[in-house]
Amino acid sequence: MLQACFAIDSDETMVEARIRENLNRIHERIASAAQRSGRRASDVQLVAVTKYVGVDEVRALAAAGCRDIGESRPQELWRKAEALSSESIRWHLVGHLQRNKVRNTLPHVVLIHSADSERLLKSIDREAQRLGSKTRVLLEVNVSGDTAKHGFAPDEVPSLLPQLADLKSVEVCGIMAMAGLDSGPEGARREFVQLRALRDQLRKNCPSQVSLDELSMGMSGDFEIAIEEGATIVRVGSALFEGME
Ligand SMILES: *Cc1c(COP(=O)(O)O)cnc(C)c1O
Repeated sequence: MLQACFAIDSDETMVEARIRENLNRIHERIASAAQRSGRRASDVQLVAVTKYVGVDEVRALAAAGCRDIGESRPQELWRKAEALSSESIRWHLVGHLQRNKVRNTLPHVVLIHSADSERLLKSIDREAQRLGSKTRVLLEVNVSGDTAKHGFAPDEVPSLLPQLADLKSVEVCGIMAMAGLDSGPEGARREFVQLRALRDQLRKNCPSQVSLDELSMGMSGDFEIAIEEGATIVRVGSALFEGME
């Protein structure tokens, strides 16, 4: 019955077909939102957040061409990265990183979206130095003020800038945030506008070796609004897995 709804080639499973269709639809929505904000689809990077699904779904995403994959829990990221080590996936950590998990996390990730304290930044710097590599991070900003959320308060961030120059093995590339749970679409838009203004202000004042171009904001419920307000990275989870059991 359901098979008739999709163009399925013989090797593709239902889950793979559904994920491919969902992914295509998200890409179309990203492209329209980018266009509305005078940008190109290629100016906005999609990170598929896979915390609700297993290794097979991640493999299906990769097969459909989506290779930037985000996880919110470090241990789950390690587990999936190890299981999928042959897939050339670029892993993003989008959730809180405890300092005792820095060592196991760095070898897997291309970007940590959730640097939320100076102590964590220093731990990442030490470990990256030990590995002889550079780690790219975003500063997580708690724009909504939800006490349950991690992140720097917006007015805390400017005073961090001078310290960023001391981090030799951490490349701070921008900021990340989530809209407040109770903000609603218009509240989310106001928060995204505020984040972009913060990013622009930081960019003007940051040390010369730091470039704060990235703005990681927008999830399944609000990624189009985030793009309209300047997001360069959106983190989409549940919308990619709609219609699956
Ligand atoms: C889960 C999660 C997402 C994706 O959320 P959806 O609403 O499922 O799209 C994005 N960012 C972070 C930090 C998350 O934890």
